[in-house]
Amino acid sequence: MTERASPLLPPATIGILGGGQLGRMLGFAARAMGYRIVVLDPDPDCPSAAIADQMIVGAYDDLAAARKIAVLSNVVTYELEHVAASVVQAIAEMTPVRPGIEPLRVTQDRLAERRFVEHAGIAVAPWRAVASTEALAAAASDLGTPLRLKATTGGYDGRSQVRVAGAGDVGTAMVDLGRPVGTTLLAERELDFEAELSVIVARGLDGQTQIFPPARNLHDAGILVQSVAPAGLPAGVLREAVAIGLNLAAAMDLVGTLTVELFLLRDGSLVVNELAPRVHNSGHWTIEGAATSQFEQHVRAITGLPLGATDLLRPTAMVNLLGTGEARDAELVGVDAALALLETHLHLYDKRQVFERRKMGHVTATGTTTQEALDRARAARAALRWAGA
Ligand code: ADP
Ligand code: MG
Repeated sequence: MTERASPLLPPATIGILGGGQLGRMLGFAARAMGYRIVVLDPDPDCPSAAIADQMIVGAYDDLAAARKIAVLSNVVTYELEHVAASVVQAIAEMTPVRPGIEPLRVTQDRLAERRFVEHAGIAVAPWRAVASTEALAAAASDLGTPLRLKATTGGYDGRSQVRVAGAGDVGTAMVDLGRPVGTTLLAERELDFEAELSVIVARGLDGQTQIFPPARNLHDAGILVQSVAPAGLPAGVLREAVAIGLNLAAAMDLVGTLTVELFLLRDGSLVVNELAPRVHNSGHWTIEGAATSQFEQHVRAITGLPLGATDLLRPTAMVNLLGTGEARDAELVGVDAALALLETHLHLYDKRQVFERRKMGHVTATGTTTQEALDRARAARAALRWAGA
């Protein structure tokens, strides 16, 4: 399917499926450019609610809500993969959906994603689809352990996966994952990587592409805790990461933003871990650190405008502000101390409740070097805490 490159100009309305922090920051960028936004989310108090021109409260499989957003929007995009394909199909019959249904189909199912990446000639961790403990035992003996057993749909922030350290864990892993008996799951080899990195590619309506400098990421128990750019990895590795990003974005015929999470193995080779056809936590650093933010870039791509430059302006580090403790009203303490530090910036997502490991906001810092930026971001985070923890 080729679409004609006629840009959708402000004050057109952009519909966003999902009103979390990604939708909120996407909405900020869109509104800065004069677009109007309408957001679909099940929660009337979601992070995007306060900045949306209009909220539609509905589930991600609510067809009536989907038709409503389609009627109100000149183009619809999404901030998460977990939207029912039937909903996106219904919207697409009424108004353009970008990046579209195919990227969603590929990325909302980890098995489809593995096959897609392999088909593009790019490496993934050795894997098997397994639907029984016997099949998992066979995978463990074929692939070796440790393994990661992952639900094929619905996972994020390291939820929906369990580690199978050795043959002794095979018997309990499926129960631990908590999916109904007989569900097909992804079992893959746990890789002993040197580093995790991600690349974010934007692809316009006319096929033009721009790619952000790769970021180096650190996860803690599956949840992103920090990203830095430049990544400080060998130039050859970065070139290959960029080539992989461009290859996959073109293979998907994507219009919008694609994030590719990668592992750098100890032999210098790269393996794709996960794809997201959207803006991504590992690209938050671009708000302060790049010539165009990932959010503005996504808006440009889906409206058919020329893409912006992606040059790194200054070494930049982003650290996530995760919740701590029991669920309670969110009140952040120490903002003044954190922002007294040089070149630090606070982003809060206006989530009403804080709880252990919830993504509540992030701090970005710039500096003369990546280390300086990281030291500043971490010092700012250390000055912050959630009241009542
Ligand atoms: P999510 O959808 O929750 O982000 P991921 O598959 O990206 O799920 O896993 C989250 C994190 O867990 C990764 O960023 C990585 O740190 C770790 N991880 C996942 N799969 C593997 C693997 N096969 N080998 C080593 N680490 C892994
Ligand atoms: Mg991931």
